[in-house]
Amino acid sequence: MITFRSSEIGGCSRALVYEALGFPREPHDKRSRLTLELGKLMEPVILREQGYEDLLHVQKEMVLPVTRGVQIVGHPDGVWINSRRYLLEVKTMRDFAWRQARDGGIKDKYPGYFAQGSTYFVGWGCDVLRFICFNKDSSDTKEIDYEGREVAAMAARMVRKARRVACYVEAGEIPGKPGDLAKWQCQKRYCQFWCCEYNEGHKFFQERKVKDGF
Ligand code: SF4
Repeated sequence: MITFRSSEIGGCSRALVYEALGFPREPHDKRSRLTLELGKLMEPVILREQGYEDLLHVQKEMVLPVTRGVQIVGHPDGVWINSRRYLLEVKTMRDFAWRQARDGGIKDKYPGYFAQGSTYFVGWGCDVLRFICFNKDSSDTKEIDYEGREVAAMAARMVRKARRVACYVEAGEIPGKPGDLAKWQCQKRYCQFWCCEYNEGHKFFQERKVKDGF
């Protein structure tokens, strides 16, 4: 079974292939680990303070089948029912990022989060995808909703992407760097496969064909 993570499906396709082929990840540094762990600890508190109770599927594994032998999995923060089914996804952010999300929306400013949420939305059969954005500097909260067709369209794009990436995995090939990748995404802080830049002599590459493009 080829499994992709919802949290990564919107990102670099090369990284998805590395993960599926078992290329070793660089461990997170202490700062990133703390940020991730503290964010997780804050999520239930934020949900409670926002008044969400009796949630379904809290951090329960969601599986979105892609095709035979390929799936996308993830652990959404919860489903809340209030005449409609809301997929809730908490994002804890520093002030600059939070303002970007508040003013520009998650879909345009953080497409990776939008892609992640869209797979949960379809996987758990929801009506509204709601991001609860928490500002770690000011403790302000902003909820941003997306509905129906635009969310389903993104999920469909992610399913198509998973199918394409799975073809590389099955062939044991590595796609070229995606053309739309911003330079910062390859930094060690953001990509645990940053070594692909510096490690072309690694036996992993000698055993596999590196293709152009994706
Ligand atoms: S270092 Fe860059 S190209 Fe390589 S897997 Fe990471 S994001 Fe993709």
